[in-house]
Amino acid sequence: MARYSQNSIREVARRNDIVDVVSSYVKLKRNGNSHTGLCPFHKEKTPSFHVSEDKQLYYCFGCGAGGNLFDFIMKIENLDFVDALKFLAQRAGVTLEEEKGAYVPTKEETDAKQRVYEMNVLAARHFVENLRDPSATLAHAYVKKRGLGKDTITRFGIGYAKDDWSDLCDFLKQKGYTEQEIVTAGLAVKNEKGRVYDKFRNRLMFPIINVRGNVVAFGGRALGDDPAKYMNSPETPVFHKGSNVYNLNNAKQYGRKDGLILVEGYMDVASLHQSGIENAIAGLGTAFTPEQATLLKRYAGQIFVCYDGDEAGQNAALKAIDILAEAGNKIKVVRFSGAKDPDEYIAKKGAESFRKCIADAVSAVEFKIMSARNDFDLTDVDGKIAFVTRAANILSKIDSQIEREAYVNRIAAESGISANAILTEINKLIYREGKKTTQNAKYAERREDEQASQAVSTEASGQIATYKAERMLLNVIFFQRKAFELAKEELSGDLFAGVEHRKIYEAMLTYKLENPEADASDFLSYVDEPLKKTVAAILYREYECDSLQAAKDMIKKLKGELMNSKIKQLAKEGKAEEVQALIKKYAERRG
Ligand SMILES: [Zn+2]
Repeated sequence: MARYSQNSIREVARRNDIVDVVSSYVKLKRNGNSHTGLCPFHKEKTPSFHVSEDKQLYYCFGCGAGGNLFDFIMKIENLDFVDALKFLAQRAGVTLEEEKGAYVPTKEETDAKQRVYEMNVLAARHFVENLRDPSATLAHAYVKKRGLGKDTITRFGIGYAKDDWSDLCDFLKQKGYTEQEIVTAGLAVKNEKGRVYDKFRNRLMFPIINVRGNVVAFGGRALGDDPAKYMNSPETPVFHKGSNVYNLNNAKQYGRKDGLILVEGYMDVASLHQSGIENAIAGLGTAFTPEQATLLKRYAGQIFVCYDGDEAGQNAALKAIDILAEAGNKIKVVRFSGAKDPDEYIAKKGAESFRKCIADAVSAVEFKIMSARNDFDLTDVDGKIAFVTRAANILSKIDSQIEREAYVNRIAAESGISANAILTEINKLIYREGKKTTQNAKYAERREDEQASQAVSTEASGQIATYKAERMLLNVIFFQRKAFELAKEELSGDLFAGVEHRKIYEAMLTYKLENPEADASDFLSYVDEPLKKTVAAILYREYECDSLQAAKDMIKKLKGELMNSKIKQLAKEGKAEEVQALIKKYAERRG
């Protein structure tokens, strides 16, 4: 495992701007000194994810995720530190210099992941062998029925999991993997009695390959009468459902030029490929996620949402559109009729006809308005009003005034309601939305109070004040040289009530003695993993008070509190004389 010098790591940090990097995953809006957007690490509707340009940090007031540039890339790309470092070095064109004794990631972690990848490759090959076997008659019949040619089967590495409880387990055990490892890889299941058996049985198998070309998981289509028609691997050390997209490894090369066609299932992807359409991708069974949307943003100039024609498919499309748009993707929606899904459409009408549907794809707004129109009866006054209200809501979210007006005029003509009335309604909605954004800043502060009360349990509100004050003190000590000098002289770690705060303070002292400049991002690379979130939460804040005075007051207060608790303890033990001495000493100091 390569080790890289501290200088290299700092150079990479200097040459990548966090706002820039985060922007390729999250749509950020500038808000004074900070940039805000929808958090990629938890589901939310109003942005609580903040990125500071000055401090080169990110922090989410919603879920508490926080850290520097490296932490962000590690988390969002699911990489370990070394790979995140390489990723960012490449991005900025920095050549990494190797050095002994620098950062080393835990070997166990890398090894465990590596073994899962190896097992997945072996399993994929094993499934392919199974499909080639003449005895796999059920699988062959299905492949024939779906019209999957040899080339398609090879291209997607399609295979077959036998109708057997231990076919794959036996094979992998023979290759030297333990039952526990096979379970960890999601290829086997352990029941309550401790019995281990193959997860995928009697299924046509589709390996799921990530953009780096690793087999990360499998999807299986049932061939028998299993109630679960489709089954995917569970979450494993190398697979997070919500952050992978099926066939992106193949389709990504077309993404910039032709865009990507987002369909519902891997069978759709396979049959599109069969018809010469190579740029189709699919979610993995579950609802489309923000992580998937940000992943696509990196590869697609345009996304053509092409979900099934039934109501469930159209509703899923509406949701996917919003998630894709929030990640900054350009979207069009493909409409087709006379078939339930793209697979069937192509079988019935051919690839050329499907290509025409792609060319005729409508904008996301158009699609939403169309689907609103379908929901209401426009021959009826109430229906018209309901339709216009829904349409106004859709249009209030468009940024372009010109685009908005074009739709308004059309809707006015259709509904007989004046364009002016519709515009008034839209402006009202926009105003309300703006108000929510300002409230969001207040919400962030409230969140901090909540976190504080959770952290100190329910004992006393005085403790919450202490908790908040300690955090403020740590912030000020880090950023203000004078406050740091003062703390170094006057403040010992055990004055902090919070154990985490104490550890952070001690780490700060050691760090700042060698690195006097207040580089928050660099400090985050320095502290231990469990402290990172808290450090990000503390350093992210801006305090507007006279910081040196605040630090002085705070140190005094902490000392006073420590004294109080010492006195209480001694009093409990009945040591009256010592209590007297302590009070006297404290009074002298104060005076
Ligand atoms: Zn969050």
